[in-house]
Amino acid sequence: MRAVALTPGIANSLHTVDLPTPRLEDVPDGQGVLVKLLRVGLDGTDREILDAEYGAAPPGYDFLVPGHESLGVVQQVGPSVSGLAVGDYVVALVRRPGNSIYDAIGRSDMSTDADYHEHGINLLHGYLTQQYVDAAEYIVPIPRGLRDVGVLLEPLSICEKGVDQAYEVQRRLRVWHPKVAAVLGAGTIGLLTTMALRLRGLDVVTLGLEEAPYLNSDLVEALGARYVSTRKMSLAETSAKYGPFDLMFESTGFSPLAFEAMEVLGKNGVLVLASVTGGSRTVEVPADAINLGFVLGNKAMVGTVNAGREHYESAAADLALAQTYYPGWLPQLLTHPVHGLENYQQAFKHLAEDRPLKVYLVIAPFD
Ligand code: BGC
Ligand code: ZN
Repeated sequence: MRAVALTPGIANSLHTVDLPTPRLEDVPDGQGVLVKLLRVGLDGTDREILDAEYGAAPPGYDFLVPGHESLGVVQQVGPSVSGLAVGDYVVALVRRPGNSIYDAIGRSDMSTDADYHEHGINLLHGYLTQQYVDAAEYIVPIPRGLRDVGVLLEPLSICEKGVDQAYEVQRRLRVWHPKVAAVLGAGTIGLLTTMALRLRGLDVVTLGLEEAPYLNSDLVEALGARYVSTRKMSLAETSAKYGPFDLMFESTGFSPLAFEAMEVLGKNGVLVLASVTGGSRTVEVPADAINLGFVLGNKAMVGTVNAGREHYESAAADLALAQTYYPGWLPQLLTHPVHGLENYQQAFKHLAEDRPLKVYLVIAPFD
């Protein structure tokens, strides 16, 4: 079976490898599910892995098969599998259990281990290949009617978890009726988070670098949200005009913005930090003012990464809602399809050069 591979630690080391075809019996207790891959999306994490800034090969291998945003179709199920059937469209969870107590209770997305086991990212091969076999508990079915946009489910699951964490944290208040949210970043994650928050009934201001109009600002406005270019209006000015913000979601990858967000976050508000920033940037901040604002304003801040099964399920529900509330919106995110696994170089080229919303490889057609 063909797979795309790269050598973690060596930039631009893409090549192909031949892997043994997976078998149902590879998973014990009749829990195996054999899935044919249909589409696999790429994102900033894949770019960092390509640039040798992130990622690790599985033990015993000198290469990693990348790709963690999968959409596939079930081809075979083991005798003990329930809830999945041949022909189901499915998305695989990215993380697998490690050793912490959170792993033991089925919440690997909250693992406190030093190293994570993440398919296509860290220590486990990903999905830029033809088939995989895994246990049913790591495979989430989606409605057939969502297959066209199903490759967006994994990225949306990241947004869902972040938003869910915000609401979980705010249970501390007993009463919390958030009205206005700010999303920092208008890339794929920023847009999907804007969508998830609009579906929860919030007014949303989404901030990006570019000046409107362009595709991303059009997409923000199509959701009934407001787009602000930080070239025209700072975060502080935006907050003075449209805030105070009850919920803020940082997904720009530019960590200094997290501190600006702490400054403007509204009283009793919650700030979600969702950017994986591998750099070593430092910045001077008004520490007393930020601290005082948090103390006197009962503010909270929460970091979030990865997503669990429940977030995949709420992502599937939100994809369905979005298709009815904002028909035609999700497909506009599918900007860069590349047909055929063999054209992987083209897909990674888009990722590096074209500022895509979503690059994805079409590995096999829908039946
Ligand atoms: C993936 C997550 C993962 C994170 C950190 C993201 O791109 O979508 O599943 O936890 O990278 O590796
Ligand atoms: Zn990702």
